[in-house]
Amino acid sequence: MPARKLHLVPLGGLGEFGMNCMAVRWGEDIMVIDAGLMFPESELLGVDIVVPDITYLLEHREKVRGIVLTHGHEDHIGGLPWILSELNVPVFGTEFTLALVENKLEEHDLLDDADLREIRAGTRFNLGPFTINPIQVTHSLVDCVALAIHTPLGVVIHTGDFKVDPTPTDNRLFDLHTFAEYGKEGSVLVLLQDSTNAERRGYTPSERAVRGRFDEIFARAERRIKVTIDLAREYRRKIALVGRSISESTEIALDLGYLDVPEGTLIHPGQIKEHAPQQVCVLISGTQGEPMSALSRAAVDNHKHAKIEPGDTVVLSSRIIPGNEKGIYRMIDHLFRREADVIYEDGSSPPVHVSGHASQEELKLVMNLVKPRYFIPIHGEYRQLRIHADLARSMHGAVGQVLMMESGDVLEFDELGARKIDKVPVGRVCIDSGSRSDVVEDLVIKDRRHLSEDGIVLPIIAINKLTGSVESIPEIVMRGFAAGAEDGFVHEARRLIANTLDGSTAEEKADYGVIKEKIRADLKRFIVKTTSRRPLIMPVILEI
Ligand SMILES: [Zn+2]
Ligand SMILES: [Zn+2]
Repeated sequence: MPARKLHLVPLGGLGEFGMNCMAVRWGEDIMVIDAGLMFPESELLGVDIVVPDITYLLEHREKVRGIVLTHGHEDHIGGLPWILSELNVPVFGTEFTLALVENKLEEHDLLDDADLREIRAGTRFNLGPFTINPIQVTHSLVDCVALAIHTPLGVVIHTGDFKVDPTPTDNRLFDLHTFAEYGKEGSVLVLLQDSTNAERRGYTPSERAVRGRFDEIFARAERRIKVTIDLAREYRRKIALVGRSISESTEIALDLGYLDVPEGTLIHPGQIKEHAPQQVCVLISGTQGEPMSALSRAAVDNHKHAKIEPGDTVVLSSRIIPGNEKGIYRMIDHLFRREADVIYEDGSSPPVHVSGHASQEELKLVMNLVKPRYFIPIHGEYRQLRIHADLARSMHGAVGQVLMMESGDVLEFDELGARKIDKVPVGRVCIDSGSRSDVVEDLVIKDRRHLSEDGIVLPIIAINKLTGSVESIPEIVMRGFAAGAEDGFVHEARRLIANTLDGSTAEEKADYGVIKEKIRADLKRFIVKTTSRRPLIMPVILEI
């Protein structure tokens, strides 16, 4: 690569939802912005997470100076364990972001070897030839920054995820002034801006907008409620945290002082039953209908501590992520069956959930302030990138040239201009059960490898559609998988499935998504333990 050229290489997140990751290269130095994951779609059976292909970084491993994180959402940090295990470079993030990262690395036994460096909004730092200025932005999480990256060709501004929230819940304001200063200087070469909500007109409401609705919910709820902490305190309810992701992030927020909960307010989930329902608020994980999440399990009456009783109010304060509708509505159906009062995002106002991403007026505002020579939409599926690009094209006074890129494109800047010069390998890397040794390049290869090396196991369960009862002993069909003493293995596996079924409620058995996942998980654990192999396991439910 000749000198005096800047390359932008998105490795994920442009033209797809999630796994945001971008390389910025100047000569012999590369910095990486974010290292996110993508949650697998349901057809990726048995795959736990999906991360970006980092072949480009590995091919230039001696040039990679570090990874700079914009904020702590999974689609920005979730790929770190996998990336660091391949490429151990320093990781830069704000205090809250790094606390989330620490937890994640600890889980994967990577924390001891990690080089984590704290950054602060407004405090510049150097990384190779780059000087980076983190700029405070507002989003649906605390301690989020945009990055102004000073390069010899000009400043690259990467917004991270943001909305312009004039009344953020932590009172740390969106730093419009710094964006404006860069614009005034005329020093911005390129603006890379969050496209998630580019389809939405107007402004995204402040995080505080949910307060009105929540206040109303708290005021009229007669029994238990599952919602946020401030109001729980105001309404003098004890708070229980149920589910791993919610307890972990809340603990971090408490440790770092982002949340303030008076002594004695938090109770252990096991203590829920010791309090009257109208004195408790349960915060529970799993609003996307993930089959094994705490809320999904509570919805089918299979959670040890979180029991949902008639008259309880369940609030799903989240967006229904496209692709998850089926699972979410199935869970909502179960909650209705439990006679809960279910409140979810149905378009009514005031809202129970607000987006964390900028709508069109905010996007235009930042473009106006920054006045970039080039504009590139990032973080979005193709149509969102396209709509965002069109929006930028209409901003004649503020934005120079608008460019569209997708993951894998290499965009080159020099004194003469900008052009796409190359494609690098990108794609989805599927990781099974969070283990780094279980990486598979894509679904097809995964299936083939599974089938060729470890075979396939089909547990077949006959369930009576009317009664929900299991009609016969589960059958097991295996191909390409031999487990030593065959008879003994099959016998054990059948007994295990029967146990799983026995331990499930009628509602779980009626919900094939849930019951299949339970059987798959239990059987997988058993097979790995007894044979150290990982066949493809596909439970089949026969309705009779
Ligand atoms: Zn985010
Ligand atoms: Zn994001």
